[in-house]
Amino acid sequence: MYDVVIVGAGPAGLSAAISCRKHDLNVLVIDEFPKAGGRLLGQLHQEPNGEWWNGVKESEKLIDEANALNVTIKNGIPVYHIEKVDDNFIVHTEKDSIEAKQVLIATGAAETAAPIPGWTLPGVMSIGAAQVMTNVHRVKVGEKGIVVGVNVLSAAIARELQLAGIELHSMALPVKNDITKDAAHPKKVMEALSRIAHLAPSAFIRFGSKFARASEFIRNLAVQFYPPGGVKMWGMPVHIRRAITKINGTDKVESVTMCKVTTDGEIIEGSEETIEVDFVCIAGGLYPLAELASVAGIPFKYVEELGGHVPIHNEKMETPVEGLFVAGNITGIESAKVAGAQGTVAGLSIARHHLDDTSIDKSIETAMQEVRKVRSEATIQFHPGINQGREKIHASFH
Ligand SMILES: Cc1cc2nc3c(=O)[nH]c(=O)nc-3n(C[C@H](O)[C@H](O)[C@H](O)COP(=O)(O)OP(=O)(O)OC[C@H]3O[C@@H](n4cnc5c(N)ncnc54)[C@H](O)[C@@H]3O)c2cc1C
Repeated sequence: MYDVVIVGAGPAGLSAAISCRKHDLNVLVIDEFPKAGGRLLGQLHQEPNGEWWNGVKESEKLIDEANALNVTIKNGIPVYHIEKVDDNFIVHTEKDSIEAKQVLIATGAAETAAPIPGWTLPGVMSIGAAQVMTNVHRVKVGEKGIVVGVNVLSAAIARELQLAGIELHSMALPVKNDITKDAAHPKKVMEALSRIAHLAPSAFIRFGSKFARASEFIRNLAVQFYPPGGVKMWGMPVHIRRAITKINGTDKVESVTMCKVTTDGEIIEGSEETIEVDFVCIAGGLYPLAELASVAGIPFKYVEELGGHVPIHNEKMETPVEGLFVAGNITGIESAKVAGAQGTVAGLSIARHHLDDTSIDKSIETAMQEVRKVRSEATIQFHPGINQGREKIHASFH
């Protein structure tokens, strides 16, 4: 019987484990990936002040601290079910079932699919898969590729691929369909970028800040007169008036079909052009990976600004199911720094429940303030309305 089982060894889970161990709780962290660190393991980007965010180093710091405090971390073990039996929980893993007094679910985020014709060909991958292959497994994903989907995450990862010596033709929108919706709409993409570009990796600032302070009228003009050759970022054209309509090839990716689109994302007939590439990265955005919270019985709310369906929780990371907590991207898509700060809050809340010690309340308050501060200073922000999203989800906790 553990005092707490934490599912997910990303920044949220590890930070929570550290907080719990500092209060002497018996902690087990379980992760299905062979290595601890979560999505930190793939991250590398330059912040607006020029400093580099090196996710591998950040994960090492957290793992070293957790090890120094004797946190037990088990990797390579997927958790598929969590059930409450009397006052405790049983965490079912592929290996065995583990009993715990409290459970934290910190499973992070997953990528949204953006289907376009030809996307099942070998050589097509999600942008996150390209990040993991490049930065975690050190596998070259191809010789020359193209990124489909223009957003903060795809910009950050495109830069990582370039730094690894991989040639990218450009970034362009996906073709408009029932699923790609706003991601295929030039005006909506411009609107989203101009609201968050000042928070994104360095070259994105130059791209977005041109339009960030502009009125809607000017932004619409910018979309209308967007340079046909794209706006260059790190030497790579970023197109928001061109979409990839098809991925071509017999046994693997050989080329893509790119078309000009109207300001509303409709294809301009006769504008097709074939671009030779041997891999394609599709960037459809992120959503909270929350299935485990669902099977564990936590109620959900759909909050667009947080990335989709989110388990209901309050600012202390408590859920309506007594003894069950959530932290990190499962609660809404934000940067690794925010996830880590939320993990610290969750760990303190768990310790507070376990020890019934009111002296921890002050630390929880300070840690919650830290989350707000980190959020306000975040250099990578995925959704413009994150604060409103947070207010909505916290208000639904009773
Ligand atoms: C593809 C991708 C790329 C990203 N790139 C960036 C970036 O460049 N910069 C940035 O700031 N943010 C990025 N993010 C956002 C990222 O999610 C946060 O930065 C941060 O890592 C979230 O921390 P977390 O602890 O909530 O989740 P994660 O870091 O995702 O950790 C969650 C962990 O839970 C484990 N897990 C999930 N389900 C189970 C299960 N059922 N059983 C056992 N273990 C499980 C996973 O293996 C993972 O290790 C990215 C997200 C994704 C999905």
